[in-house]
Amino acid sequence: MDIRLGNGFDVHAFEKGDHVILCGVRIAHDRALKGHSDADVAMHALTDAILGALAEGDIGAHFPPSDARWKGAPSSIFLRKAAELVRARGGRIANCDLTIICERPRLRPHIAAMRENLAAILKVEASRVSVKATTTEQLGFTGREEGIAALATAAIIIGD
Ligand code: MG
Repeated sequence: MDIRLGNGFDVHAFEKGDHVILCGVRIAHDRALKGHSDADVAMHALTDAILGALAEGDIGAHFPPSDARWKGAPSSIFLRKAAELVRARGGRIANCDLTIICERPRLRPHIAAMRENLAAILKVEASRVSVKATTTEQLGFTGREEGIAALATAAIIIGD
């Protein structure tokens, strides 16, 4: 049995707008996240964690931002592809853990929906998907509300 861990980290800056998309959940806010795709910083970090566990490069290698196909694309495309790569290797996702770092918007009311969304995309039970939110106590770029950061870990088991 081959047990593999991967980590992922991502940051997106705020720009003008009226909502953010985190783990596929649309959350009303007084700003939006800037990015080539839907800028779902949380899903990007998790995608990178899974790709990292497989040692299959990173999200930018699989989905180059220079490719017009990914403009405005839902980030579920990227996460679904990472999960498919796990299955193609005869593996399964044991668990994943995601921490989203921002002062605002408040994420707690959305955590359950985020977990359900990610679990459905990954084709695992929600009990294997953790989503947490924290702040940096108003310190640094997340504290100044310049953007949102996300940190993810994924554990994958290949073989029986
Ligand atoms: Mg990103």
